[in-house]
Amino acid sequence: MNGKILELKDIQKHYKNGDTTVRALDGVSLTVHRGEFVAIMGQSGSGKTTLMNIIGCLDRPTSGSYLVLGKEAAHLSPDELAALRRETFGFVFQRYNLLATATAGENVEIPSVYAGLPKQKRSQRARGLLQRLGLGDRTDHRPAELSGGQQQRVAVARALVNDPPVILADEPTGALDSKSGEEVLALLKQLHAEGRTIILITHAESVAQHASRVVRIQDGRILEDSGFPDKGTSETTEDNNRDYTSGVSLSASLQEALVTAWRSLQVNLFRTVLTLLGIIIGVAAVVAMLAVGEGSRQKVLDRISAFGTNLMLIRPGAAGIRNAGDIITLVPEDAAAIKALPNVETALPERSGRMTVRYGNIDYQTTAQGTGEDFPSARDWKVAEGQFFNADDMKAYAPVVVLGRTVAKTLFPDGGSPIGKYVLLRNVPFLVIGVMTEKGASPNGSDQDDVIFVPINTGMIRLFGKNYLSSITIKVTDASDIDATQERVEALLKTRHRTEDFSVRNMASILQAAMETQDTFTLLLGTVAAISLLVGGIGVMNIMLVSVVERTREIGIRMATGARMRDILLQFNIEAAVVCAAGGVLGILLGIIAGLVLRYSGMTVIFSATPAVLAFACASATGLIFGYLPARKAARLDPVIALASE
Ligand code: ADP
Ligand code: MG
Repeated sequence: MNGKILELKDIQKHYKNGDTTVRALDGVSLTVHRGEFVAIMGQSGSGKTTLMNIIGCLDRPTSGSYLVLGKEAAHLSPDELAALRRETFGFVFQRYNLLATATAGENVEIPSVYAGLPKQKRSQRARGLLQRLGLGDRTDHRPAELSGGQQQRVAVARALVNDPPVILADEPTGALDSKSGEEVLALLKQLHAEGRTIILITHAESVAQHASRVVRIQDGRILEDSGFPDKGTSETTEDNNRDYTSGVSLSASLQEALVTAWRSLQVNLFRTVLTLLGIIIGVAAVVAMLAVGEGSRQKVLDRISAFGTNLMLIRPGAAGIRNAGDIITLVPEDAAAIKALPNVETALPERSGRMTVRYGNIDYQTTAQGTGEDFPSARDWKVAEGQFFNADDMKAYAPVVVLGRTVAKTLFPDGGSPIGKYVLLRNVPFLVIGVMTEKGASPNGSDQDDVIFVPINTGMIRLFGKNYLSSITIKVTDASDIDATQERVEALLKTRHRTEDFSVRNMASILQAAMETQDTFTLLLGTVAAISLLVGGIGVMNIMLVSVVERTREIGIRMATGARMRDILLQFNIEAAVVCAAGGVLGILLGIIAGLVLRYSGMTVIFSATPAVLAFACASATGLIFGYLPARKAARLDPVIALASE
């Protein structure tokens, strides 16, 4: 088992710095055999870390050949290199490089997450390793709660979790006191004794003494190599047990991304909430606005269809003319003429006014509605007691009145029958001949029973002081023929008036126009909501970009421990999506609360699931779309540069 595991041939690593070129490595050739304990020694700046990064496949050489387990590293794809880092190498850094937000146990688990180990096995293995390194009772501590020596032992456990054949340690004792340093060195020796290949970088002679082979470098060149003690078998060993391109399951990576996302949101709670605000407001706006829109749509719909789709309404004044009230040409005779047309069931001449009705010492302000004898059948509204006025009453200008239920109750509070009693309207006594059945509140909340009906002829002479109508309501027999009937009505009135000083609308067209208005309204609200989602999305992107910069080191650590570009991409995208989805949920709640408040204040609000689902989906999609750019930025980071960042 003493085959070559790593073989570097004439490795050059140059850094261009303006005009000058720094030769960090200048022709390094080094062969490491399985089971060796090599110390690489040199002063600061001699190229040790650069060499280590190349050995660990974190960095690519400028030129030269590097064989890992017999495979040329230069020919491997980024994902295959990630697999090598994950399964062949375990890294121990001078400054531990633990994730501050994760517990010791979770830190140890990271490489095995990317190796696709199931959750249970991962934590079991992490616990076992920490136990073995004397940190069994520190599994749930975060790095800030551990001493330097303990943190470095956690880092060693992390290096071991995938059971890699090679441990790379870059000045692992550099930041430790001598006692902790001794412990870490003893640990490395023990790992060596178990058959692992150890490459230890140090600038201290005392540390190098622990190794079985010392390689000294200076200015990027090897000065001295104590050599491999037993060079007997030197054929390259190929390790065919590992398949570097597979191994990472998407679900494990997804799970890790979700956990990390959740944690990073918690760490920056205030910032997260501020970021969420845009999304929350956007989603809440969609939910509440569309509920209000739906409510008002339903209200209009109810009001119009309560009126009946077989009705037509004639008003004085051509469409679009103001001061229609001054037009005096619409008269009861028009209604009579219209009634004679085919397909017209009834034509009700109408005028109304507010006035006080008095009975005994009770005064009550109500609406007096002048109408025709066909009103009960046209409006499908029955008389409860007594009768409605008839054609004879109309002709005779009879001073009779039919009370709405509310008026009857108000004027006759003791429950006596109003029929046959006289009430005063404008000091004229009117005989009560009937009381209408109760109709209840209209869809817009007004009391439909707060009304009295008088014959239109009587009303125009005695009450309203005007001898022209404010409208004629027409009921057609066959609603499907309403358009043709409307044309006939228009033709008739044009002949009678010799001009078109009126407008006819049928309920179907009013309904349609109202629906179109409502749809425009809804579209408008939707647009406003979409814009606020967009603004929210840009906020998320902004904060994610900041987050990537802040967490460059974390990204470096994850890459060094085997995360692929895809894993990093997924992680940051998931984070953005989680932010937005959380914002979506909160937004829906806020939208419902806002809707309930509006409902409480008297608005018609109708919630439906579609806008909520849609808004939530939009918010999550916003996260994915706006999270992509920052995620890609993170995934494209060079592991070496990411690791070196502060
Ligand atoms: P050591 O780890 O032995 O202290 P390094 O390998 O970190 O040394 O650095 C070797 C040389 O390469 C130094 O002169 C350093 O300034 C240079 N160097 C290292 N990284 C970079 C880089 N990213 N850009 C430019 N020069 C670098
Ligand atoms: Mg260094």
